[in-house]
Amino acid sequence: MTDPLAFVHDELRVLQDASLLRTVHALDSAQQPEVILNGRRVILLASNNYLGLAADERVVEAAAEAARRWGAGTGSARLISGGVRIHDELEGRLARLKRSEAALLFSSGYLANLGTISALVGRGDAIFSDELNHASIIDGARLSGAEVHIYRHADASHLADLLRTHPAPRRLVVTDAVFSMDGDLAPLRDLAEACEHHGAILMVDEAHATGVVGPDGRGAVAGAGLEGRVPVIMGTLSKALGAAGGFIAGSSALVSFLRNRARAFIFDTALPAPVAAAALAALDVLEAEPWRAGRARALATRLASGLSDAGFRVSEPAAAIVPVHIGETDAALAVSRALLGQGVLVPAIRPPSVPPGTARLRATVMATHEDAHVDAAVRAFAASRVGV
Ligand code: PMP
Repeated sequence: MTDPLAFVHDELRVLQDASLLRTVHALDSAQQPEVILNGRRVILLASNNYLGLAADERVVEAAAEAARRWGAGTGSARLISGGVRIHDELEGRLARLKRSEAALLFSSGYLANLGTISALVGRGDAIFSDELNHASIIDGARLSGAEVHIYRHADASHLADLLRTHPAPRRLVVTDAVFSMDGDLAPLRDLAEACEHHGAILMVDEAHATGVVGPDGRGAVAGAGLEGRVPVIMGTLSKALGAAGGFIAGSSALVSFLRNRARAFIFDTALPAPVAAAALAALDVLEAEPWRAGRARALATRLASGLSDAGFRVSEPAAAIVPVHIGETDAALAVSRALLGQGVLVPAIRPPSVPPGTARLRATVMATHEDAHVDAAVRAFAASRVGV
């Protein structure tokens, strides 16, 4: 009998030969500026915990208290056994943060994109998507069955051309606000104008913008002065808010529609109460300590300019993501390994996360890093160059 799973071994070998086989590190500590990896203390420049709230005492305590009061799990989908009071409270807070009428929670940002895109458009409709959008947007678009038109990265005039030439009953334009692997900002104002002009729905994924950019960390839509003009705003609780989960902010009608049509909401067990409570506590900290967003951005700028002075090709960071462009996968892996050797954890990002030939190191900072962490990382980068 041949093994029906034999292809697994074959594919693993192919990945291994192309330096594309991935494994995971297991940390022995929380997401902090320094973490314990294999018994060693290393500087973490790899986390989306941008404001340093994942291990903040207030956030952790809120989660612990919620676990004691409501339990660890929620038992079923909200439409089945009902949610808990703090789901509603958190949705209210998120709607306020995004200056929208309402918000709807999902178990992850990934599911928020999957569920929302596939509810808004379907077969016969059209999606217009930036070529560098996150995988969860791409997967939502595929799941929807709508025709997908890709526009050049951050190119609103290419989008306008495509909107002019591709009519459909429903048309949805989707973009990352801050691009996850490039760290730059979408031209939201121009995209909004193109959508308004052509009668298309605009959906903006604020995963890497919420809590980090815009007035009071309200996001890139607020930063561009577009509150009220972006009908579908998506965000995550998993990054700057230090918890987990995703959400959509929009009109009350949109939220009711999604509650009834987004399968990733309807058929998915509700967000655990401790997670919702952690996100609520993080929103309190965001309000009380507005310096965190500015600190994260300042550290990103410090890191980018240090690396650029050291001769690396670095994009200007719009938020807390600093991509260091290397090119070939093996070279990016070599730099990442050399950095770890020197006590700095920065992941090499390779295909399929980024297009072939554009492998990079994706460094991310947290508001809780010291300047000295960033400066040590720059020195480690400079030393890692030797031999590449
Ligand atoms: N959108 C973007 C732009 C992301 O980078 C991510 C996470 N990497 C997601 C959505 C998915 O969010 P989550 O991790 O909360 O599922």
